[in-house]
Amino acid sequence: MLIDSHSHLHDPQFFSAEEAEACIKRAHKAGVEKIVCIGTDPQDSLVARDFANKHDGVYWTYGIHPEEAGREENVLSRSIFSDVENTERPSPVTTGARERSEKGLFSRLVAIGEVGLDYHYEGYNRDAQIKLFEQMLQLAVDNDLPVSFHIREAFADFFPIIENFPKVRGVVHSFTDSKKVLKRILNETDFYVGVNGLATYSTLPTPPLERILLETDAPFLAPIPHRGSTNEPAYIADIAKWLTEKLELPLETVATTTSENVKNLYNI
Ligand SMILES: [Zn+2]
Repeated sequence: MLIDSHSHLHDPQFFSAEEAEACIKRAHKAGVEKIVCIGTDPQDSLVARDFANKHDGVYWTYGIHPEEAGREENVLSRSIFSDVENTERPSPVTTGARERSEKGLFSRLVAIGEVGLDYHYEGYNRDAQIKLFEQMLQLAVDNDLPVSFHIREAFADFFPIIENFPKVRGVVHSFTDSKKVLKRILNETDFYVGVNGLATYSTLPTPPLERILLETDAPFLAPIPHRGSTNEPAYIADIAKWLTEKLELPLETVATTTSENVKNLYNI
């Protein structure tokens, strides 16, 4: 069994309802049995939630992408539970994972994310990104949830921030930094590292198998031999195949270990 630990399959910007259904069928055919749909803002997260609740083997996360930082509507006055019409629900702070899972709408919520820091594009708002990131980390701690990190060209700020949240577990999604930074992640944290299609056509350093989560980041970053086309969860099989060659391990080992890693982090 394989798992796509990071996909945007629910997002109608990228996949129509019919396309998404077809993608799920092709994923199952390729041995990809579970898919995690990643939220990038409060509205998108709720779309991911509704999509997950309609499809077996699909899970969702609640996130606000760093590029959304500083936008008025995304200030965390809208809490993770604010759209649920259940007036009796306890506040997020007092709601543990077990209580939450009894509430249907949240039963497939597996993480907070994607959240983090992205200094790639000119004009980014560093202060607002850090503030939002810290708020989201606190939300993860309060709700006993792991975190999907989106960190681009910002690891110098990332490490000191996460030091203040020692209980947080997570995955550094779509890792694109140096060998030195990878070493720090592996040695100084317990975080997993997301490996996707980028790895199949670049010279990125490869983490050890026991720290890898396979992800597509669909519709982006299609792996070889699909480079340039729309990425989809089925292509996890191609990333896994690439990894078996890179690590010289049987496919069975790669599939089992990376799926165990996802289960360990996301409890699915
Ligand atoms: Zn993503």
